[in-house]
Amino acid sequence: MTVHRTSNRRYRTNRAKTLEGQPVCALCGRAIDKTLLQYHPHSGTAHHVLPYAKGGTDELTNLVPAHLECNQKQGDKLDPVIDRTSREWI
Ligand SMILES: [Zn+2]
Repeated sequence: MTVHRTSNRRYRTNRAKTLEGQPVCALCGRAIDKTLLQYHPHSGTAHHVLPYAKGGTDELTNLVPAHLECNQKQGDKLDPVIDRTSREWI
């Protein structure tokens, strides 16, 4: 089972920094609409480049913008799982 420690303060602070400006999802390459409510599938999250499970941290250097849905699809896998050319989820 995957443990998500997304409630800690460093993650929340750095997630906000990661999503500053006009963020583009690092996983699918599409813009992130910051007006969407948290927990909306296309809302913005900060994806861990190196997952917690592999020893990754909440430092800014380990975070990239990603849609919640893309982040969940990617999970703890290191290789990209999202087909950037797919348009099926729009
Ligand atoms: Zn995305």
